[in-house]
Amino acid sequence: MSIKSIKLPVLPLRDLVIFPSIMMPLFIGREKSINALEHGINNKNEIFLVTQCDGSIDNPESKDLYNVGVVANITQSLIKLPDNAVKAIIRGVNRGKVVEYINSSCLLQANIEINDYEEYDEDSVEVEALKRSIIDAFHDWHKLNKKNQSEPLVNSIDHIQEAGQLADTITSYLNVKISDKQSILETYNLKQRLEKILTLIEREISILNAQNRLYKTVKSQVESSQRVYYLNEQLKAIQKELGEVENSDEGNTFSEFEKKINETQLSQEAREKAITELKRYKKMNPVSPEATVISSYLYWLLELPWGKYKDTKIHLNTAKKILDQNHYGIEKVKDRILEFLAVLKRVKEIRGPILCLVGPPGVGKTSLAKSIAKAVDRDFVRMSLGGVHDESEIRGHRKTYIGSMPGKIIQHMKKANSCNPLFLLDEIDKMGTDLRGDPASALLEVLDTEHNKHFTDNYLEVEFDLSSVMFVATANSLNLPYALRDRMEIIQLSGYTEEEKVSIATHYLIPKLKQEHGLQNKEWNITTDALYKLIRLYTRESGIRSMEKELAKLMRKAVKEISTEKGKKISIEVDNLSNYLGVRKYTFGMAESENLVGVVTGLAYTESGGDILMIESVLIPGKGEIQYTGKLGEVMQESIKASYSYIRSKCLFFNIKPEIFQNNDIHIHVPEGAIPKDGPSAGVAVCTSIVSLMSNIPVNRNVAMTGEVTLRGRVLAIGGLREKLLAALRGSIETVIIPSENEKDMQEMPKNIKEKLNVVFAKSVDEVIKVALVNTST
Ligand code: ADP
Repeated sequence: MSIKSIKLPVLPLRDLVIFPSIMMPLFIGREKSINALEHGINNKNEIFLVTQCDGSIDNPESKDLYNVGVVANITQSLIKLPDNAVKAIIRGVNRGKVVEYINSSCLLQANIEINDYEEYDEDSVEVEALKRSIIDAFHDWHKLNKKNQSEPLVNSIDHIQEAGQLADTITSYLNVKISDKQSILETYNLKQRLEKILTLIEREISILNAQNRLYKTVKSQVESSQRVYYLNEQLKAIQKELGEVENSDEGNTFSEFEKKINETQLSQEAREKAITELKRYKKMNPVSPEATVISSYLYWLLELPWGKYKDTKIHLNTAKKILDQNHYGIEKVKDRILEFLAVLKRVKEIRGPILCLVGPPGVGKTSLAKSIAKAVDRDFVRMSLGGVHDESEIRGHRKTYIGSMPGKIIQHMKKANSCNPLFLLDEIDKMGTDLRGDPASALLEVLDTEHNKHFTDNYLEVEFDLSSVMFVATANSLNLPYALRDRMEIIQLSGYTEEEKVSIATHYLIPKLKQEHGLQNKEWNITTDALYKLIRLYTRESGIRSMEKELAKLMRKAVKEISTEKGKKISIEVDNLSNYLGVRKYTFGMAESENLVGVVTGLAYTESGGDILMIESVLIPGKGEIQYTGKLGEVMQESIKASYSYIRSKCLFFNIKPEIFQNNDIHIHVPEGAIPKDGPSAGVAVCTSIVSLMSNIPVNRNVAMTGEVTLRGRVLAIGGLREKLLAALRGSIETVIIPSENEKDMQEMPKNIKEKLNVVFAKSVDEVIKVALVNTST
């Protein structure tokens, strides 16, 4: 160790600690300092740089200065700056310890002791480890320190070999307190110095990390509030541009809701809920998704017809007049409806069963319901249940789902505009069931007069009283869940005969359509024969919907002709009908033009009314098996098997050789194979087809039949008789064989059915065969 003493001019530094081997420009303004610099230049360019304990002191004395500083070289001479300051570039050389300050009025000097021995072992493992750690930490610090992006500095650090120099260089770059830097400068012991630096860097890193975290949170907060503000402004601009809500600031929306809450006769529960939701809404950012959910909720809640009841009076005479005005015939149906209304008038409360109008399409179920609404002076709403599979369609989704809405019942109540409308549940039999729940059970609750006072929609979350609603349902078939059916008072509507259709057309549809098309009475007419032709060749239906469409088509064409040829009168006759309606759509008459073996005309009852159902069978060499095709339902398949077994067991009775059964298979087909068919009532037709086939005797083409067959050959009653007989009439059938058990129903059949059809009643299959096959009776 060698200690050198030297006297040097002192340059006090205000906020800076200079380390050995650091080169740096200095800007010097104080006169005494400039003197020191000049002195240094004259004295081998050497000067002593020492930091002030307090940087604010202008004329520091010895007590104001630290004791350890740096002996430095002045590498570039004075450069005078305009404000009398000077610039010099200096380079630190050695640490120096002040032994004594020598202060005069114009210059500060000091005796310095230079200790060029640093207590360290450059190669020691500890020093090397510390060195590496410091370099790593320094890199981390550099990455984090956004202000200090000097790449050359980082690279130069990597090339410093000497640990002491490394420590000094790094410290001079660190953004730490002057006192910390000074403490490093004063630490002569290398290992201790390195440890101190490492601690300093680590501390700096954790400060920077914390700073970054804070910066990010603050930045994102600022950004999101800026974004919301920006979007809000954009929204307002767009709304203004579109001329939408001019005063759509939140204040107005709130007061509108408040006004609505005060004005609407909400239930206590609904009022409390509305107030709570509005309070929540006020606290929210108006464009946030939650706020949208709440505002649309409040909209739904407040738009419902709370407390609005129409003054409904039932005048039976007026009701009868309205029903008669809009509906021809169907006297029984109208009577039943009037009875229902009479009871309602008495009890004044809807407690009994729900009216359900059942019948094929186009027979006037919906229009009857509308007339009932008119007769009882209620608003009318129609909700179609066709294709409703999901319970939540009836009862709504919870409002937590984005885009959720109340269920159909509440939606329609809003449309109804009063709490006591006539609510038509259309096509109640078309409701499905699937995984998402059974809508029928939800509907049951709606219809239950005990419970519907407290109906709660999942979306609305508050009770809405449905007990004053008059529910009426319609269905094409009675294929309803038992519990639902149990609640209904069923009124059956059947298809119309041709005569009835013609009457409805003449008395109701044509005048109505003429008015709708703006046609004068004298401008357009249709003859009765043309009407029959229209019904037979252009429609095939139980109701009158297609007929109405065809008539409307005729009138549209007429309006066009009249508008081009003023004063023209149009009369639709049998001969010119096809000029307007085009080629006929259906054939009228028998399904078959000759008597065939194995081909039988059955009668079926479907949801769209009665229809003719052909049954064909052929014999194929085989082992006595039976096949059937034509999309047949389970019941129909069983009915075919039973019929086959019965005929086979009685083959001798029907004059059929048993070998024919043994050596042949039978294939039974019911054409129009794409249409599903089911039910037991084709039994007699299947038996007839098999007997005809096996005995090779043709079936009379003028005969149609319907009836279920037992294994012992008895013929059992069937349903939908009127529809089936109407279908037979439409198909120009002369004789219809029906079960004897249905004889009682004949009283209710229209007169013209009885007159036009030869109805034969059969108790057993052999009675059927006798009539059906061509020459067995002779
Ligand atoms: P549905 O609901 O049974 O399918 P709609 O009520 O829609 O039938 O009736 C179809 C059309 O037939 C309506 O224009 C209706 O006014 C008319 N209509 C049906 N039956 C009659 C009738 N008996 N008298 C007068 N118009 C009828």
